[in-house]
Amino acid sequence: MTDPEHVVVAGAGLAGLRTIEELRDRGYAGRVTLVGAEARLPYDRPPLSKKLMIGELDDTTLRPDLDALDVQARLAESATGLSGGVLTTDAGRYDFDALVLATGARPVTLPGAGRQHVLRTLDDALELRPLLRPGTALAIVGAGWIGAELATAAAALGCRGPVVEAAAVPLAAALGPEVGGQTAAWYAAAGVDLRLGQGVDAVAPGGLALAGGDWLPADVVVTAVGVRPSVSWLAGSGVEVANGICVDEQLRTTVPGVFAVGDCAAFQSGRYGTRLRFEHWDVALHAPEVAAANVLGGGEAYDPVPYFWSEQFGRMVQYVGYHGGAGQLIWRGDPQDGGPAAGGTAGRVGHRWAAAWLAGDRLVALLSVNAPRDMLQGRRVISSGVPVDPARLADPQIPVRDCVLR
Ligand code: FAD
Repeated sequence: MTDPEHVVVAGAGLAGLRTIEELRDRGYAGRVTLVGAEARLPYDRPPLSKKLMIGELDDTTLRPDLDALDVQARLAESATGLSGGVLTTDAGRYDFDALVLATGARPVTLPGAGRQHVLRTLDDALELRPLLRPGTALAIVGAGWIGAELATAAAALGCRGPVVEAAAVPLAAALGPEVGGQTAAWYAAAGVDLRLGQGVDAVAPGGLALAGGDWLPADVVVTAVGVRPSVSWLAGSGVEVANGICVDEQLRTTVPGVFAVGDCAAFQSGRYGTRLRFEHWDVALHAPEVAAANVLGGGEAYDPVPYFWSEQFGRMVQYVGYHGGAGQLIWRGDPQDGGPAAGGTAGRVGHRWAAAWLAGDRLVALLSVNAPRDMLQGRRVISSGVPVDPARLADPQIPVRDCVLR
């Protein structure tokens, strides 16, 4: 197969940029057009809720010089439709031989006429940062990854507003109630008021209308209740969408010559036997390697052991694998370190523990807190798919790699 003459990439985030870098690294010399809705060059998002929010960074641009990639960058331009080998934007039309969709995701917002901040873009972050100062009545809605990181940054800046969460524990959707619940103590230890099981009806001027009728006054409201893939513009294009853009193992959509990567793509996982969509930096980094290879005529499959990290209240939290369908949860170490009732130190910042999920005798996912070695070894064990000994895995003194059954 000959290389495509013109590759168009829609979405100028990490996944879009990485796609172009990979195409060029593989020797592709044809035309490349990058269409991005934001006026900015591609930048990194993880620091927005971490170092950038506490003022240790002001800019996270990934590649200030796109010239070396020989890209026609069409910034501040949004893709609006796709039909018959042509991508339509709000400023033009682009014929393509191959198209890579990398439009990411956008935050969900709550009903109500009050001002609500979200944290997705660099501009969102730069707008929010100066508001997080002592004396601001802050309210964060959602105790997921972003809510927790934002509460961490706000506390570091001396701005401790309540975090209001509808579920019974933080991170319930991502980690399940048993594991997610272990993080609740971190808020209290950092002096942050975590209000669990509390829904929000609306963001109104001056505060939150809480489910049940109570009112929570707030000068600054940040809504951090999740994101949805940015795919509505594909309606009528023939690209199948169901919680993201449906792609096969080779990251091909239902329209020939059109691929999808990153937060917007729901890929068929051979490893887990189901369709998965992740909002993980690591996926946006690596899936483009496969998409680029296949744009250039390859037949590579994308089948990762997914990886995600988060930094919360002084702790490094890392999650590797996918625990959907896992049958058994095994603790490595006591998450509460004895717990307050036992005179322990629940919430102690340096405390190290992990939780492992097994499906039968295979390790399928692992969450580690301050335990990067467990995570690294767990990743390899999950990848290899070899059986493990649950009793040994429950002993945090035994390295994860020494828990495999040979
Ligand atoms: P995006 O980064 O969303 O980029 C997509 C781009 O496409 C955007 O610029 C968007 O404006 C543009 N676009 C959308 N629609 C259109 C259109 N119609 N036409 C043209 N352009 C369009 N992950 C981790 O693993 N660990 C972390 O600690 C972590 N921290 C994070 C902190 C924050 C604050 C955020 C927001 C995310 C964090 N993530 C983290 C997630 C990670 O950043 C994402 O998974 C990653 O950015 C996804 O990259 P992407 O390129 O697929 O999508």
